[in-house]
Amino acid sequence: MSARTDASRWNAVAARDRDHDGEFVYAVRTTGVYCRPSCASRRALRANVRFFEDGSAAEAAGFRACKRCEPRSTESATTRVIAKARAYLDAHIDAQPALATLAKAVGMSASHLQRTFKREMGVSPRQYVAALRADRLKAHLRAGATVSRATFDAGYGASSRAYHAATEQLGMTPGAYRRGGKGVHIRYMTAPSALGRLLVAATDRGVCAVTLGDDDVTLENALNSEYPQSTRRRVRGTRGDDDLRAWVAAVRAYLEGVEREIAVPLDVAGTPFQERVWQALQRIPFGETRSYTQVAESIAAPTAVRAVASACARNRVSLVIPCHRVVRGTGALGGYRWGLARKERLLAREHGIAARRVDASEGPATRASR
Ligand SMILES: [Zn+2]
Repeated sequence: MSARTDASRWNAVAARDRDHDGEFVYAVRTTGVYCRPSCASRRALRANVRFFEDGSAAEAAGFRACKRCEPRSTESATTRVIAKARAYLDAHIDAQPALATLAKAVGMSASHLQRTFKREMGVSPRQYVAALRADRLKAHLRAGATVSRATFDAGYGASSRAYHAATEQLGMTPGAYRRGGKGVHIRYMTAPSALGRLLVAATDRGVCAVTLGDDDVTLENALNSEYPQSTRRRVRGTRGDDDLRAWVAAVRAYLEGVEREIAVPLDVAGTPFQERVWQALQRIPFGETRSYTQVAESIAAPTAVRAVASACARNRVSLVIPCHRVVRGTGALGGYRWGLARKERLLAREHGIAARRVDASEGPATRASR
């Protein structure tokens, strides 16, 4: 709820504004009770009020729910409205419903719905529809259509930029990630690769971990500690889970030098800052490197070099988000979560392949994107 200040929350409480119910709760030190913003009970003194993201947070701090406004019931009402909104959008993916239409359909004001949806889902309703269309695109891709044809069919202009932009929109919500993947079902596979053992894990929405290591047990333990509350299933054998198999194949094609890009949907939630860094990393071309400072400058946060480095270190999908392409300004390799030797080999190989392509006079023409 980062952007909302306590001052604006207090204004909502002072106005008993129903529109903010479900967005936060306020607790009163003197009574030990917490309420939704619109509670009709006597107004507390500002000095005695603390704000919390939700009832759980207030209860963790020792407050109990108000019997009069039942702040817990707002939370479940919110969940119902969001479920209704999602169902509506799922059913109207081609119509691109206006926010006002959607709001009417679920019985909530447009501005309240926009805020609530964004808070619960991590994306706006509009971005949600874009991601649904991206899902359809992925289905086309799995069915064997070429990328340009599939982007066209899915309603985008024929541009892989649109594909990447859309697939970056939606995934595990930040909330689900914060809760250790609670309620999230993860499948994973391991495979041999030129850089050791490879583990690829995915939710129903996309790849949530790509890790490299010396043995499967270490990789599995790392996955477990990243998503401790999720349910996890290891995929073995040669049948079923076609989507996961396709994503593993895409990562291996990159590691074997067959492909320069790994075009898989991602499901990685982070802080807004981390996500900006991760998106910036995906814009570093194959065969090139950037310094941490350059990445910080590219996201208009030139002084946040340390935060950039730590976002790189928090990357959960190696290779797909190419954090190996970030090095120290001095030319030193910097860190790498999956081992410096691997980073060194990845960069050497990418540079080698990129250099060969430039030398070859009849290399594939790279058309400027429109
Ligand atoms: Zn109350």
